[in-house]
Amino acid sequence: MKSEVSKIACDAAANVSQDRLWQCLMDLAAVGGLPDGGVCRHALSPEDIEARAMLIGWAESRGYEVSVDEAANLWVRRRGTHRDAEPVIAGSHMDSQPAGGKFDGAYGVLAAFEALQAMDAAGIETRRPVDMVAWTNEEGGRFDRGCTGSSVWSGDMPLEDYLNDVGVDGVRFGDALRATLEATPDLPRRPRSFAAHAYVEPHIEQGPVLEANGVPIAAVTSIQGVRWMNIEFFGAAGHAGTTPHAVRRDAFQAAHRAVASLNSLMDDPNDVIRFTVGRIVVEPNSPNTIPERVLFSIDFRHPDKALLNEKCRVIQASVAEAAGPCSFNITPTTHMDPTLFPQDLVDRIEASAAALGHGCLRLASGAFHDALYAAKNCPSAMIFIPCRGGLSHHPDEWAEPAHCAIGAAVLTATLVDLAND
Ligand SMILES: [Zn+2]
Repeated sequence: MKSEVSKIACDAAANVSQDRLWQCLMDLAAVGGLPDGGVCRHALSPEDIEARAMLIGWAESRGYEVSVDEAANLWVRRRGTHRDAEPVIAGSHMDSQPAGGKFDGAYGVLAAFEALQAMDAAGIETRRPVDMVAWTNEEGGRFDRGCTGSSVWSGDMPLEDYLNDVGVDGVRFGDALRATLEATPDLPRRPRSFAAHAYVEPHIEQGPVLEANGVPIAAVTSIQGVRWMNIEFFGAAGHAGTTPHAVRRDAFQAAHRAVASLNSLMDDPNDVIRFTVGRIVVEPNSPNTIPERVLFSIDFRHPDKALLNEKCRVIQASVAEAAGPCSFNITPTTHMDPTLFPQDLVDRIEASAAALGHGCLRLASGAFHDALYAAKNCPSAMIFIPCRGGLSHHPDEWAEPAHCAIGAAVLTATLVDLAND
């Protein structure tokens, strides 16, 4: 891959229309729109089906090839001069959290759609096809294992593994998937997986760094790794008024010692470590009974795999020491190593931003995205734009129209040059 930015890439980027993109964002946000300004568009719901129909209508009216795969990932293709060349892909997801906002996911899909239109407006041809994708069920708001569509496309998960998942509304994933596919019976089917030249995902940052620095673009270098685990302490129940402290085996006191020592273990002067105890279960949970069993959860994230592994070893030791007279169990529940995006692709995004005169930071993503799975299939990276207050998964989620357009322009330039590799 080369990293200089071509003139036609800049010409195409100059044809991004802020108004056209903003109109699409607002039209899509109305599908599943809530009175408080938020959006509830669960994966494979009637609202998702309506959003898909809207996008398909827009795409077909502009002459693009629309198709769908078995996981209901929706594909919109701008043809290349070499029909069979591996495509360049851009997109994100259209499902939202139950009380989500207008931009998380939708922005990436519509910025990719705007990029196709900007290439048309500039009258350019690319050697490779450029595909926009809307992945199925990224959020996990209805069916709790998210990134369903991208994990199937990447080959990381078989679609069959998801079919019997049951949504929060009691509907089986396989049934909701069938209903969604049956809503567009005439769409051609894409293969479940195929080779691609590259994948670029635009997204709101979902954090405060770009806004705080007054910079409109981040070239995302990685998605941080995650270790989730449950820590359990087992003691002995007893009367709170009569049991002397010397003989107690109090599971809550053990948990309290453990959390205190883990907090100092995870203290990070650079504020990069993310460490959260988000759930605690106390049994029997009675004010005058010594707790017999306590479970708490750990969500621990960092971009560096070696640090994740090292700290996990020390977590084990801290918990053992805190247990005192109690016994304990550590049960890992999620183990995901950091995803490093290829340096040359990150460089190209940065070069596109520079060529268009926009500032650009390099950031690691704190959240999961479809790009995490796409990266298992083809070179992948992400472009972040600022969001107000770093807020997301919230009705007040907001991105400025100008930032949306800048992100789409950087995406367009990057895609044009990738599509001419
Ligand atoms: Zn998202």
